[in-house]
Amino acid sequence: MMQDLTIEGFSVPAGERARGQISALELADGSSVQLPLVLINGAKPGPRIYIGAGIHGDEVNGIALVNRALAAIDPKTLSGSIVCCPVQQPLALLADHRLPISQYLKSPLDQAPTDAWTCFPGDPQGNIAQVMAATLFRLISQCDAALDVHTPTRGGRYVPIAILPHMNLGEPAREAERMAQLLGTGWIMRGDKGMYVSDGILCVEATKAGIPGFTFEIGEGGRLEEDQVAIGAQCVANLLIGLGMIEGDQVPPAETHVMRDFLGLRANRGGLLITERALGEAVKAGDVLCRIFNVYGDEVEVVSAPEDGLLVRTTTLGSVSKGERVATLGLL
Ligand SMILES: [Zn+2]
Repeated sequence: MMQDLTIEGFSVPAGERARGQISALELADGSSVQLPLVLINGAKPGPRIYIGAGIHGDEVNGIALVNRALAAIDPKTLSGSIVCCPVQQPLALLADHRLPISQYLKSPLDQAPTDAWTCFPGDPQGNIAQVMAATLFRLISQCDAALDVHTPTRGGRYVPIAILPHMNLGEPAREAERMAQLLGTGWIMRGDKGMYVSDGILCVEATKAGIPGFTFEIGEGGRLEEDQVAIGAQCVANLLIGLGMIEGDQVPPAETHVMRDFLGLRANRGGLLITERALGEAVKAGDVLCRIFNVYGDEVEVVSAPEDGLLVRTTTLGSVSKGERVATLGLL
């Protein structure tokens, strides 16, 4: 006899699914920020996986793709259980911005740090970002593995890519890498420096706590893209099939690029940005990636690849200032 999935006061019988909300914090008007939950309790034993999306408010592809992946699951045939929070920072979704920007504008000092994604494991007595992170980490801590779905912020576009925590985190990090392979995006970043492997990041802190987790980035910020939602939902299905949680055939990538570092390239001049290479293309040192034109139409900068790499992230903004990122290479 399978047990109920009991979490945050909800109790979902085996072979059933439920939706719920948990109150994360109280706002000035007395309303509370409600975190939406999807809870699916399989009829058969297996792991409990946490799936989160939308911790940045302009990353709607992630929200849509986890919903699509979960809609296809029959709890009667599921092995294990799924705890999903499709919108991990509702205040940011309301702002349609990466961050809950109204709070930051109101009180920049008290609201820093502003990004819950960087505040794990969080602090229940901290500011809004820290309280949100603490609430989410309480959910994650009750699971065996974690997947955190993102897109770049508005103005950026990623290939579908699994980004691992630091590999010095022992067996949970190795398990995270195995899960990233199962996801089957064809792109894995296995780096040892930079934002994604830093302390405080959701998947890093989960993995440190013994819950293997990684970040999944896909598509463009601020846009809902049917093709990316379909690819992302299939990747989530690939992972669940690979973990033995659902039945089905994985759709593996033609090849998998495992990379060791990101190389972000920034504009030295301001102007209109034209990207000449396709997202995902392999480029050689010296290849032209982008051109920048001033407001009179004169070409003022040619951005070339400083070394061989894969164009894993493009800038979709039409104009850039000096110092803004124009492309990111993944280095093999
Ligand atoms: Zn994000």
